[in-house]
Amino acid sequence: MTSLYTAGLAGQKFLQSLKDKGVLLGSPCAACRQVYVPLSLFCERCFSELNETRPVGPGGEVVTFTLCQTDLEGRALPRPQIAAAVRLDGATTTLIHRGLGDPAQWKIGARARVKLAARRKGSILDIEGFELV
Ligand SMILES: [Zn+2]
Repeated sequence: MTSLYTAGLAGQKFLQSLKDKGVLLGSPCAACRQVYVPLSLFCERCFSELNETRPVGPGGEVVTFTLCQTDLEGRALPRPQIAAAVRLDGATTTLIHRGLGDPAQWKIGARARVKLAARRKGSILDIEGFELV
């Protein structure tokens, strides 16, 4: 099973910054102080239009995580994969991505940081994952 979809205006800007500069961008809402990551065109709380961007992360806090035992087709993985939700510094929402390293070391509330892929091509996979710090 595969999916193909466009990143949208905000998503494209987020991915371009990630590819070109290795910088993650958030969308601050001046009205209610939310900072969305990835970028968003409107505030989900107060519906304000969001036009500003600001760098967030690369460090953050592990808000939650889980261990995935199967792939998207239901086949058992050779070893569990970590799916983590991290609130990057400067953001109020979480970014979900792969957690790296030993699952036994992962704890809610731990500090983590984005690890960028060695070669970036404008995809969410330009982030290799979150590594604990
Ligand atoms: Zn708002």
